[in-house]
Amino acid sequence: MIRLPRRMRREYRMDRNQILRTIPRVDDLMKEPAVLTLSGIYGKKETLRAVREELDCLREQIIKASENGPFPAVSAAAVTEGAALRLEERWELSLRKVFNATGIILHTNLGRAPLGERQMEAAFEAMSGYSNLEYNLLEGKRGKRWEHYTGLISRVTGSEGAIAVNNNAAAVTLILSTIARGKEVIVSRGELIEIGGRFRIPEVMEQSGAVLRETGCTNRTRISDYERAITENTGALLKVHTSNYRILGFTEEASIEELVRLGEKYQLPVIVDLGSGVLVDLEKFGLSHEPTVQEILKKGADLVCFSGDKLLGGPQAGIIAGRQTYIKAMENHPLMRAFRLDKCTIGALAATFREYLNEEGACENIPVLQMLSRSEEELMAQAREVAWDLSSRLGDAGISVEKSISMLGGGSMPLEEIPSYAVVIEPKHESAEELVHRLAALPVPIIAHIKNDRVILDMRTISEKELNDFKAYLAGACENRTHPGRC
Ligand SMILES: *Cc1c(COP(=O)(O)O)cnc(C)c1O
Repeated sequence: MIRLPRRMRREYRMDRNQILRTIPRVDDLMKEPAVLTLSGIYGKKETLRAVREELDCLREQIIKASENGPFPAVSAAAVTEGAALRLEERWELSLRKVFNATGIILHTNLGRAPLGERQMEAAFEAMSGYSNLEYNLLEGKRGKRWEHYTGLISRVTGSEGAIAVNNNAAAVTLILSTIARGKEVIVSRGELIEIGGRFRIPEVMEQSGAVLRETGCTNRTRISDYERAITENTGALLKVHTSNYRILGFTEEASIEELVRLGEKYQLPVIVDLGSGVLVDLEKFGLSHEPTVQEILKKGADLVCFSGDKLLGGPQAGIIAGRQTYIKAMENHPLMRAFRLDKCTIGALAATFREYLNEEGACENIPVLQMLSRSEEELMAQAREVAWDLSSRLGDAGISVEKSISMLGGGSMPLEEIPSYAVVIEPKHESAEELVHRLAALPVPIIAHIKNDRVILDMRTISEKELNDFKAYLAGACENRTHPGRC
């Protein structure tokens, strides 16, 4: 190694060290008016941390820069600006609103059922101050939190009693733990389902302490198969709605009526995990008929459970409706304490069932049902409006309005295709993947899918209320290819 003369060595390091010395000191920076403002917003501790990080970053850049420069700019203003960006980014919550342009109404990854005004108001009311959550106002003493919704659920579904827990997975677990712990529960081999997110009937059964007793075959299970599987250890008969798949062709399943008759003969409760829990006749939306909760209970099922945030259109919850003796036993089960609903959910759930007291009101005020009932003409008009707005700004981009297919999603009615309309963009200067990426990076992200190298924006899941914002963000993303909004 060549040793430079001492004087030259110093000279060689001169530039860099000189620049490093010009970096403002933390203490001085913290007195800058702009930094004081940041402190006021984000707190002194976090601001100090951001300023330090920015300075470390600057130092590193200077050391890394080539000896002849160019060195990054060193000024109090530059450091402050960098610190402000860091703070802003950190302040932003990761969970936020998106536009769902997938046409999938109950998109599990996008939060399933969105809530309507009246449902949100009830949740807001419950959480924005004290409430009579567990206080009986008439008697001036302790009350039960479920009293706010059980009456409504019973009235709407026609059940003797009802209870709700955090989700339907918890509902199934609670039912089995309460009435079939240590006993065999008979399930058809065609109904041993897995719902996304590791909800698998055999595993839930194991967790709840019940013993799975499979019967019949994947495609055909007759009532005689259930009867043959009954022993003195049998605790219940369970029917699971095959929500997210269909077995087609040479098939047979035992009906609810048959199961109820068998249950009566052997004194066994019949449990139905309905999954989606429809309360209105879906035929009025042009869909095929799904058995409603009311129908199943009327046929004599002892307990029915379903999700709050699937077709019901409410908050995340698992609702159990049925015989009062079982409901009472569940209220007193230790798991109930772990699975119980919080006050916001109770507010939203009660408001959801209140809507169903008047079916027309429900279709108007519950967004999931609103979206289902939107007509093709309405969706076409909305697609045209968006496309027109976009092409008037962009001119050359390949924008068209086309028929598309909406889905229910959330593992409900997997074969049901709902005719819809979409705005289709064929990007000219980038790939469809790139555009989809940029749409997802918007301050309010737009979630869309790609088909045949084109971006499909389905209109069914973009509400009238959000349309103007949606158009503005979409246009912004399409116009401004180099500035994705957030990078
Ligand atoms: C969706 C579903 C579940 C799980 O419900 P969550 O509310 O998501 O916990 C259970 N069983 C069936 C049949 C389902 O469709």
